[in-house]
Amino acid sequence: MSGARPVHPPQTRFAVRNDNLCVGGIELTRLAQRAGQTPFYVYDRAQISERVAQLRQHLPRQIELHYAIKANPMPAVVQHLAGLVDGFDVASGGELRVALDTTMPARCVSFAGPGKSDAELASAVASGCVINMESAHEMERIAALGDKLSIRPTVAIRVNPDFELKSSGMRMGGGAKQFGIDAEQVPEVLARLRKLDLDFEGLHIFSGSQSLRADALREAQEKTLHLAIRLQDSAGTGLRTLNIGGGLGVPYFPGEQSLDLATVGAGLHELIPLAEKNLPHTRLIIELGRFLVAEAGIYVCRVIERKESRGQVFLVTDGGLHHHLAASGNFGQVIRKNYPVAIGNRMQGAVKETVSVVGPLCTPLDLLADQMELPKAGPGDLVVVFQSGAYGLTASPTAFLSHPAPAEMLV
Ligand SMILES: *Cc1c(COP(=O)(O)O)cnc(C)c1O
Repeated sequence: MSGARPVHPPQTRFAVRNDNLCVGGIELTRLAQRAGQTPFYVYDRAQISERVAQLRQHLPRQIELHYAIKANPMPAVVQHLAGLVDGFDVASGGELRVALDTTMPARCVSFAGPGKSDAELASAVASGCVINMESAHEMERIAALGDKLSIRPTVAIRVNPDFELKSSGMRMGGGAKQFGIDAEQVPEVLARLRKLDLDFEGLHIFSGSQSLRADALREAQEKTLHLAIRLQDSAGTGLRTLNIGGGLGVPYFPGEQSLDLATVGAGLHELIPLAEKNLPHTRLIIELGRFLVAEAGIYVCRVIERKESRGQVFLVTDGGLHHHLAASGNFGQVIRKNYPVAIGNRMQGAVKETVSVVGPLCTPLDLLADQMELPKAGPGDLVVVFQSGAYGLTASPTAFLSHPAPAEMLV
């Protein structure tokens, strides 16, 4: 992006005391002792709460807020969010169990994802959660399972829209996709649904992820509403809920700016009259993953070696790609860029040097920071990777090279 201001330093979201970054008011060296090991992830409970409060302040009160558990499924985090959001979205039987272990009622949990197994569908039917159906065949399987279990399953249709969220980091709708039922096939599927013993909840329309542009979000949300209104006509009955997706992104790289929540909120406020006129009995849901948790978490590893090779300095740490694939640049990024990184126990270090932070794996892909200017550090110092509260540990190949797994803490 040209003309963009640099990203607001994420360090400023965390206090600094005695040269240490603090999470939840606790100094980093103390957190490392408490973890009993490095590397570890630590998430800040108060920051998650604050993020939800900000959202509630800007979103229209008519819109319910769901958390997409795959962003960070740590049970303690999900439990914390159970008291803050209106529902959970899960994408596997494992995530469903984590959701059901909280105080969140099953009817406020929805289960999406292609290729759900019979065992997963049976758990979902038995629990009473909403199943977001990804194909006509899945609908037949759910109906058969409902029959077998003598339970009437609650189902929603996940629609593969005929548009996409522009400029998003990850497009999940539009064109040919493994996700959802193509919008043009939905009327036929609805006609069949009416003949089956299924309780119809509504529609789920997810068009993309990781957008930092309020105008693109607004455009996709408007198209989502129009599509839902069109499809409702063929449903023959109103929609109880419409999940309009999410897509609110967070800045990871230099030059990216935080979304302006006030603008996003204003865009949604403008769409409320359209929804109230055409979908008067429909509850609107927005589902967010990373936006709720990414910025509240850091990944911490320890420098084992400081090494010089042909004029370049390498900090070799005990953590890397196997714990944090996204920060290494290998989780869907096209061009590798550095996540924000700091030396967490030398926050005020005046002497700086340009270093590359690498991990212990035998591959050049194991890179956490490429030629970054950081306070001078050596063995024992703690490297912090910011923006790590989402798609961190569980999005990483922890078995690769058989190193121990990182610890996780919520403070
Ligand atoms: C992954 C996913 C999300 C969460 O995406 P974020 O970018 O983390 O907000 C929401 N909804 C669905 C259907 C998803 O698959």
